Amino acid sequence: MNEHDERPGTTHFGFRDVPVADKQKLVGEVFSSVAGSYDLMNDLMSMGIHRVWKRYFVATAQVGRGARVLDLAGGTGDIAALLRDRVGDAGELVLGDINGSMLRVGRDRMVDRGNVQGFEYVQCNAQALPFPDASFDLVTIAFGLRNVTDKDAALSEMLRVLKVGGQARVLEFSEVTMDWFKPIYDFHSFKVLPRLGRLFAQDADSYRYLAESIRKHPPQEALKSMMEAAGFARCGYRNLTGGIVAIHDGYKA
Ligand code: SAM
Repeated sequence: MNEHDERPGTTHFGFRDVPVADKQKLVGEVFSSVAGSYDLMNDLMSMGIHRVWKRYFVATAQVGRGARVLDLAGGTGDIAALLRDRVGDAGELVLGDINGSMLRVGRDRMVDRGNVQGFEYVQCNAQALPFPDASFDLVTIAFGLRNVTDKDAALSEMLRVLKVGGQARVLEFSEVTMDWFKPIYDFHSFKVLPRLGRLFAQDADSYRYLAESIRKHPPQEALKSMMEAAGFARCGYRNLTGGIVAIHDGYKA
């Protein structure tokens, strides 16, 4: 059994093994707690680099003017806001998230930025999407898959709602490839993040969960295999910032 394996009937919630039925509620509590400070914390934790990763993720996505796009686990809307420029006025963007608090912050931010037309907000679980087959040209999920209880179900759903030829893109924390950097990264994850969480979000535990959940997420090759097993064609990935995050792609054949 390796660190990414799970015992029958249980799953990971950070470093804890919890009953499968409990994980969604525990993840929900994390994001309800951090929704108001989520954007500030992202900037503090990553020193703003998450903005570069997200820009690159969207700039290199396979999408054109007028496309219909689903951004899953869309949270406070960073990816959807960037996608707006790619799909133009004729495009349609659906921001889906399981958490009402995150969706509300996302919708308010979008309205504040003047992004109103062409956006739809849907509270939904990535594991069981309320959309017909073949209804999107692109499906994205950024820093979301890690939190989903049944990742295989979510990948199958992403494939189902894609049109033939469409792309699924996953942006997620992954496995750092530079050995010299690992101790620094561990120090930042386990010592700095919970302190930042306590100071700026009055919540150290949620940021401890963040660090632990990253370590439990399937690394690059494992996630690629999961996408292949879900039925995606031409699966591949690209590491960013030495594997701190990776972008995985798959297509519907
Ligand atoms: N995509 C946004 C970004 O990059 O800033 C938000 C990422 S945030 C770390 C993770 C999001 O995943 C949260 O908004 C959470 O509510 C959502 N989430 C967790 N489990 C989910 C599920 N099963 N289905 C849909 N969304 C989920």
